[in-house]
Amino acid sequence: MNVIAATGNSGKLREFARIFVPFGIEVTAQKEVLPVLSVEETGTTFAENAFLKANAVYQLTGKSAVADDSGLCVDALGGNPGIYSARYCGEETPFSVKMQNLLKELQGIPKEKRTARFVSHICYIDENGVRIDAEGICEGMIGFEPRGSRGFGFDPIFYISDKSFAELEDCEKDAFSHRGKALRLLAQKLEEHQR
Ligand code: IMP
Repeated sequence: MNVIAATGNSGKLREFARIFVPFGIEVTAQKEVLPVLSVEETGTTFAENAFLKANAVYQLTGKSAVADDSGLCVDALGGNPGIYSARYCGEETPFSVKMQNLLKELQGIPKEKRTARFVSHICYIDENGVRIDAEGICEGMIGFEPRGSRGFGFDPIFYISDKSFAELEDCEKDAFSHRGKALRLLAQKLEEHQR
């Protein structure tokens, strides 16, 4: 089975590809079929934005598409940046700067109040237009400094137990991550749907 990953984010794309391997699902990058497509995320929820992205690719290709809308929700910031994570401090701003800014916003906040979670909402649309959704959440906390060099985005400042996501091996991140949980749930739903 092959599915178009409706994303231009190379970090997400790598995770899609490796998490789907055990399920026999191959991923085609959106840029290979629709090199100039850019979808405006006008939704007010992760679910709405994931649908907008998957549906845009489905409508233009007639092929099955899968999209992730995800973000980092920080309790001390009232759940922000949440659905605006990619746009936090401006879309083109390097993550090193975004992370420093987020750490500055949390200056003086003690460890027990630095709770946060990553949310991934996955929307899949098959070639007949049937939609299947799945969501995954990973609870953690915002550390006091960036650590590690793996992964992407906010990984270096998001900690589960005493390690940041960026310090974990790929397979460890996938085992715990919001996206790992959501994509495995989706794969399970797809198997049930195809029975
Ligand atoms: P969007 O789903 O394209 O709106 O972007 C999601 C944004 O959330 C990314 O650009 C990152 O800032 C952040 N994000 C989502 N998942 C992860 C992750 O697994 N690691 C680090 N940052 C993430």
